[in-house]
Amino acid sequence: MIHGRQPRLVFWETTRSCPLRCRHCRAGARAAPAPGELSTAEGFAVLESIARWEVPRPVLVLTGGDLLARPDHPELVARARSLGLSVAVAPAVSDRLTPKLIGRWADLGVSALSFSLDGATPGSHDAHRGVPGTFRATFQAIAEAQAAGLRVQVNTTVLPDRREELGALCALLKLHRVPVWELFFLVRTGRAATLPEISPAEYGAVAHLLYDASRYGLLVRAVEGPWLRRVHHEREAGAAPPRDGGYPVMAARLRRRLGPPTHPSSIAPVGTLDGDGIVFVGHDGTITPGGLLDLPIGSVRTDDLRAVYQGHPLVQAIRARRFSGACGRCPARSYCGGSRARAWAETGDPLGSDPACPWAPELGPAPPGVAAAGEVPPG
Ligand code: SF4
Repeated sequence: MIHGRQPRLVFWETTRSCPLRCRHCRAGARAAPAPGELSTAEGFAVLESIARWEVPRPVLVLTGGDLLARPDHPELVARARSLGLSVAVAPAVSDRLTPKLIGRWADLGVSALSFSLDGATPGSHDAHRGVPGTFRATFQAIAEAQAAGLRVQVNTTVLPDRREELGALCALLKLHRVPVWELFFLVRTGRAATLPEISPAEYGAVAHLLYDASRYGLLVRAVEGPWLRRVHHEREAGAAPPRDGGYPVMAARLRRRLGPPTHPSSIAPVGTLDGDGIVFVGHDGTITPGGLLDLPIGSVRTDDLRAVYQGHPLVQAIRARRFSGACGRCPARSYCGGSRARAWAETGDPLGSDPACPWAPELGPAPPGVAAAGEVPPG
């Protein structure tokens, strides 16, 4: 177990309503709110329950859909801050996101804003997000947030047809002094179910490119790509980067834009997994181990969020690393552990092996008669 009795991050999907039409949207968001959304009073109850947890309390991430599609968003942020919660907001970039609102969040002490950028050019990003002008508006919002003194994070989904733009995007973030870059490795759920998958070799190449990108003074993190931590371990130990998966071309492009590395790698050697350091509250109160691991483990309407996080057998198994398949035999499982969401989406087993892992094929099948850590022996 990497994380203790409380998560480090609680994500609340405040709504599934959103003005954007992103191709990969986990929530399958639409303009109108989905049925069953938590009311203001129910939302306040969630915030109050988190405020009763032990210090240090988890960071609350208000996400969606788009938080700003909820008419009560000012009250929710103000209530969370008045309870002393550390709050990060992940708004969609639209006309609703004004400099006045960003200034208000800064005054309230919101700790960070995150924005999505999936391509390095207006044409690429806007085509993915489904609304022209979003690329330009995102950089404008980043500048406004920085002027207000807010910490900014950029989130990027690693898409099959955008991988080769990652080096250029990294250089753009450096240019705009963005300190944190979080890469979401695609899990084919929601609208992303129809997108093509990326091969393990290509994922490995991207992870190695991100290791390189982490050496320019930018904090680089991965969501649903915990094998980035294994890449970090191996590269720090002197392992060579791959020659396949498109790595040489992507790495050369990054170097051309940014020159030789300027810093030690910013990748943390350990981090979160769905259910280990993270818990997710859906728009209707459903509790899941993570936003992309959409396996219900409770509901804030009927259950205590912290008790579910501490006691549900699935999250206990994730924290104990009781995995099957390659992840169950892997020497890196304590600090990697594979994407539980991808294992669930692709194999139907949330404790199975991560099909995108570049190392899983090397581990091969389990020897006959030997059950791996999470496997139940047949018969
Ligand atoms: S086999 Fe599983 S634990 Fe090992 S590196 Fe791959 S994803 Fe991580």
